[in-house]
Amino acid sequence: MKKTGILYIVPTPIGNLADMTFRAIEVLKNVALIGAEDTRTSAKLLSHYQIKTPMISYHKFNERSRVEKILDKLKNGEDVAIISDAGTPGISDPASIIIKAAIENNIKVETLPGATAFIPALVSSGLGSERFYFAGFLPQKKSEKENLLKELINFKDTLIFYEAPHRLHKFLSNLKEAFGNRKIVIARELSKLYETLYRTTIDEVLENPEMITLKGEFVIIVEGAQEKEYSNAELTEMLKAELGKGKSKKEAIKKVMGKTGVSKNRIYDLALKL
Ligand code: SAM
Repeated sequence: MKKTGILYIVPTPIGNLADMTFRAIEVLKNVALIGAEDTRTSAKLLSHYQIKTPMISYHKFNERSRVEKILDKLKNGEDVAIISDAGTPGISDPASIIIKAAIENNIKVETLPGATAFIPALVSSGLGSERFYFAGFLPQKKSEKENLLKELINFKDTLIFYEAPHRLHKFLSNLKEAFGNRKIVIARELSKLYETLYRTTIDEVLENPEMITLKGEFVIIVEGAQEKEYSNAELTEMLKAELGKGKSKKEAIKKVMGKTGVSKNRIYDLALKL
């Protein structure tokens, strides 16, 4: 059987040209074809690194029709790379359709590690980075947007959003409606000259909108839902209220656990003292 090519997914800088990896340059030089989101934007990058590989456009409006052409090359044993305007293709950028098609056709997909906006934003934010949820751009449709935010209300993991500057305040109002006030970090113009991290809260920005320079690109990191600290007195009162409704101790403990998320041992010890 003929050997198929490799589909390379290649990250490109999100603002600082020097964030191109050596391997990314090598791969782009050596593949037969580069599928680029915007060939004019990528031409500057390719010329900077003296990459002379031919490009075809591969963007969200022609993604499906380009797949056949790219698959033909790969099936013919030639390697193809996909790049987007900035960062990693497939992360709020086209690539997923060609990746699925390649997998279905038993073609090897290799994604190079490299630039993406949300990782530096998350890490610099200082908010929890052990577990996080990447939401990307909120859906435009009101009902879809509201449903997603509703789903995320009790999420304890840090949340990550992308948003365009002209929609930032509207976006924060949507967050406020869904979550109330929260700590946020707005990472603006990462890796560029005017990189700024605003460590603030939703309320602070909504009350002082002028504090944010609405130019450039933004990642918004939002603290996950915080567990409320319950005092023993509060938990005891809740247990008493459940017992007052005629519940057994076992049922009351279960109910308070469900309401508060506090450990069974702690509630059990309090219940024993009643
Ligand atoms: N594929 C890209 C990635 O890997 O991050 C994301 C592409 S998405 C179309 C563009 C969004 O990414 C912007 O609206 C912004 O939210 C975020 N972004 C891209 N570059 C950025 C930068 N230098 N600073 C902050 N956010 C950036």
